[in-house]
Amino acid sequence: MADVHSRAVRSKNMSRIRGQNTQPEMIVRRGLHAAGFRFRLHDRKLPGRPDIVLRRYNAVIFVHGCFWHGHDCALFRWPATRPDFWRDKIGGNRARDTRRTADLLNAGWRVATVWECALKGRGRLPGEEVTGKLATWLHSTSDRLDLRGTV
Ligand SMILES: [Zn+2]
Repeated sequence: MADVHSRAVRSKNMSRIRGQNTQPEMIVRRGLHAAGFRFRLHDRKLPGRPDIVLRRYNAVIFVHGCFWHGHDCALFRWPATRPDFWRDKIGGNRARDTRRTADLLNAGWRVATVWECALKGRGRLPGEEVTGKLATWLHSTSDRLDLRGTV
């Protein structure tokens, strides 16, 4: 039994490990696409390899998992075991997010963060609302958007 995983399953697993093409990300992509927006994915030439890049709007969108990015919301809780490890890991992710956002803003990009809690869990927003807020922001001149759930 050389390989129990098909190529598709393996690629899906790898995506999950890299945090790409996650379910929340797919919700955002589908909503934007249905609203007529066209975009590139995971542009490795940009700081932080943003999940969604809309060049026409000078805008990038990150879809952040609340656990990995240490969001102050109901979906995040510090793990009970290995506190030092998690503090380093999640603290490092947060520091990197801040740095990458600053790099992108300095390079003239506008940066939106859509948090997982805006899309799932009891504080989630209706899908049309997420897409609507993103669309409004894309058509605005605002540099930053932080879209989160209600809890
Ligand atoms: Zn959150």
